[in-house]
Amino acid sequence: MTVTKFVLPDSDIPTTWYNVVPDLPKGLPPMLHPGTREPITPADLEPLFAADLIEQEFSTAKEVEIPGPVLDIYRQWRPSPLVRAHRLEHHLGTPARIYFKYEGVSPAGSHKPNTAIPQAYYSKRDGVRRLTTETGAGQWGSSLSMACAYFDLDCEVFMVRVSYDQKPYRRGLMETFGASVSPSPSERTQAGRDALAADPHSTGSLGLAISEAVEAALHSGGAAKYSLGSVLNLVLMHQTIIGQEALLQFAMADDYPDVVIGAAGGGSNFAGLALPFLRRQFEGGSTVRLIAAEPTSCPSLTEGSYDYDFGDTAGLTPLAKMHTLGHEFRPPAIHAGGLRYHGMAPIVSALREIDLVAARAVPQTACFEAGVLFARSEGIVPAPESTHAVRVAVDEAVRCRETGEAKVIVFSLSGHGHFDMQAYIDYFAGKLTD
Ligand SMILES: *Cc1c(COP(=O)(O)O)cnc(C)c1O
Repeated sequence: MTVTKFVLPDSDIPTTWYNVVPDLPKGLPPMLHPGTREPITPADLEPLFAADLIEQEFSTAKEVEIPGPVLDIYRQWRPSPLVRAHRLEHHLGTPARIYFKYEGVSPAGSHKPNTAIPQAYYSKRDGVRRLTTETGAGQWGSSLSMACAYFDLDCEVFMVRVSYDQKPYRRGLMETFGASVSPSPSERTQAGRDALAADPHSTGSLGLAISEAVEAALHSGGAAKYSLGSVLNLVLMHQTIIGQEALLQFAMADDYPDVVIGAAGGGSNFAGLALPFLRRQFEGGSTVRLIAAEPTSCPSLTEGSYDYDFGDTAGLTPLAKMHTLGHEFRPPAIHAGGLRYHGMAPIVSALREIDLVAARAVPQTACFEAGVLFARSEGIVPAPESTHAVRVAVDEAVRCRETGEAKVIVFSLSGHGHFDMQAYIDYFAGKLTD
C-alpha cells in the first residue's frame, strides 16, 4: 500500500517556535526609527504591539515556548498533514518525489492563524481591548478576526478597496467572527483621507491599508494595538511550527527534501516551512535548496533593491532593511494572484543576500495553469497565492523528468482557494493576462 498522508499524533505537536535570528551568519540589520533614523528600541514599539510580542521581535533566544492556551487552539487543526502527491507525480511522469504541507486545514483556510492566535493571546494578556489591522485578499483579516473572537478582543480591519468590492465572502467571514471591516482608503484616518483627496476612486493598496491600521491604533488612546500578519521576525517565528512538524513527518516518511518551496508575499509561510530545515543544515544536516516563489508583477526579491524602506505607504512604520519595490509601489490591476506587498521579510531578504535562499518570479497564467493541474490530480484547489509554489514545484519536477534525478521536493500549500473562485473563473474565461 502506498502511504500518501503523514499525520502526526496530537501529542507530537512542537511546543516551541524556532527563532533563526541568532543563527543568521551575518546577523540582521536593525530596524530604524521613521523620525530619527536611529535603530529602534523596544520602547519605540510599545504604542503598536503588546510587550511579549516586542520581546519576541527583538529576541535572540533560539527557541521560544508556545503558551498552553495557544497550543490548545493550534490543536484544533494542527499538526497539519504532510501529503505525498503521488497522483501529481504520476501525471507529470517525473522520478521526483513531491510532498506538500497543507495549511488550508485551518478554520480560516490558510497558515495565517499560526500567528494570529499568539498575537491575539499576548495582546489580551497585555490588557489590549482592540486590534487593528489591514488585509488584502482577506486571508489575514479573517484569521485575525477568528483569533480575536477566541480571546474576546474587538477587531478593526482595513480591507484594500479593490478586494472589499470583489471579495464579499471574505468580508462576510470577518463579520461573522465579529470584526468591523472598512474599505481602504477610508474616511476614518488621515492617511485614508489624504489618499481619497488625491484620488476619490482610489482602489487602495496594502501599504496604504497598513498606514490606516497603524494610525487607528496610534490614535486609540491606548485601547488598541496593531497587528501584522507577515514580514516581522515574530511572525516568521510563529510560522516555524509548520517546518518543525514537517521535519517530524519526513522522519515518518523515511525521506528528506532536497528542495523546499513556498509562495512569498511577505515571506512568512515560506520561512515557516523552510527555516527549520535550514536550522538542520546549520547543525550539520543535509543541504536544502530553499526557493521563494513570487509573482512577476510584484517581484520584490528578484527585482527589488536591498535597502531600508518603510513598511507602509505613509511612512508611519519603522524602516526595515529588506528587498523592496519602494513603499509607493502599487501592483498592476491585471494581477489577480495575491502576494501584492512591496517588501519582503528582513530575515528572508538577509538570507537571499547570502544565497541561502533563492527566488523565482512566475507569471500569473502559468500559476493558475499549475493550480488547475494540482486540483485535478490532488483534489485541492490552491489559493491563488499558493499556486506560485505549485508552479515552481511542478517546474522542478519536470526538470527532474528531463535529467532523470529522483529529487525530493516539498512545497507549502499555504491555503485553499474556496473564496477565490472568481480568479479561477476569470482564468478560464481568458481574462487573466501576464
Ligand atoms: C497571505 C498568504 C500568503 C502570503 O503571505 P506570506 O507572509 O508570504 O506567507 C501566501 N499564501 C496564502 C494562502 C496567504 O493567505
